[in-house]
Amino acid sequence: MDAISYQRAPDIGAALAAASQPGTMFIGGGTNLLDLMKGGVMRPVTLVDITHIDALNGITALPDGGLRIGALVRNSDAANHAWVRERYPLLSQAFLAGASAQLRNMATVGGNLMQRTRCYYFYDTGFPQCNKRNPGSGCAALQGNTRIHAILGASAQCIATNPSDMSVALAALDAVVRVTGPQGDRAIPFAEFHRLPGDRPELDTTLKQGELITSVDLPPPMFADHAKYLKVRDRASYAFALVSVAAALQMDGRTIKQARIALGGVAHKPWRATATEQALTGQSLDTNTLQHAAALAVRDAKPQRDNAFKVQLAQRAIVRAIQQAGGVA
Ligand SMILES: Cc1cc2nc3c(=O)[nH]c(=O)nc-3n(C[C@H](O)[C@H](O)[C@H](O)COP(=O)(O)OP(=O)(O)OC[C@H]3O[C@@H](n4cnc5c(N)ncnc54)[C@H](O)[C@@H]3O)c2cc1C
Repeated sequence: MDAISYQRAPDIGAALAAASQPGTMFIGGGTNLLDLMKGGVMRPVTLVDITHIDALNGITALPDGGLRIGALVRNSDAANHAWVRERYPLLSQAFLAGASAQLRNMATVGGNLMQRTRCYYFYDTGFPQCNKRNPGSGCAALQGNTRIHAILGASAQCIATNPSDMSVALAALDAVVRVTGPQGDRAIPFAEFHRLPGDRPELDTTLKQGELITSVDLPPPMFADHAKYLKVRDRASYAFALVSVAAALQMDGRTIKQARIALGGVAHKPWRATATEQALTGQSLDTNTLQHAAALAVRDAKPQRDNAFKVQLAQRAIVRAIQQAGGVA
């Protein structure tokens, strides 16, 4: 059994000081990290409990009309906050599509951003080959069951997907992740926060060693009237997405003025379907138009042996999510 030391950080300064030591990790709700530790997938030497840092909590209005959600806000509190429900229903829906009520009561926004892939071969240390768990060892998934794996943006080193529902909505909403660390504060545009695997699949994000997520900032609401988070999964609840779609529209009568489309379950990071967004601009919600736009999202798809179905599924889910966001389904 590994010895683990535990520290409770009273403030951000103490958390950063503790994190400067090798082998140290922050712990929020613990719903992901503790599972990974129990399975021997992650082996921190020191856990720094950040859940008592008041400065990381709370939901506040920003001067520009946006919203700041503290890194420690629990997923259930964020989902049910009046401002999130009314101004960012896409995000509220995405939170509520994730995990179970009990897990959402524990899980924090910062922890959700940092949750690790659900690739079977990453979780199971009985498979020595996992470039994400053990860099340079290979990828057991490539020869394994690839039903849940990536169809976009994968590499020869890793075909894992990002499992976060919340992050798909945040990608569509162009959120910003605010962090602090030894080099000071940074604001990371959401598209730059999660990474594609490339030849460094052990790195899920661009967060640097020792940096602490302090909040997620949302721009002023633009999509409160027409938004849908559609999650397709094997069970109706308590299951990760095979494919999910965050669809947000600005409508001018029956014409799409602006569209934001992001996909979950298809890549190592939440996947913004920018070609689809462009194809939708100025168009109606006509089914043929939506099908054409949806096809653009997967034109570069490279399915694995067991998941070619995701290519079709993604297109149909995009069409349905847009129709539901637009109020025609
Ligand atoms: C059975 C089960 C089903 C689930 N189903 C879903 C689902 O359908 N959809 C979904 O989206 N998620 C699902 N989840 C995952 C769940 O959303 C995550 O476990 C949760 O969001 C993690 O948050 P946490 O606060 O518990 O993180 P922790 O476990 O505390 O931490 C996770 C990681 O984040 C890091 N971290 C935490 N806070 C910070 C911070 N402020 N700054 C920097 N690093 C930080 C930790 O060091 C750790 O590496 C499921 C989990 C379980 C166990």
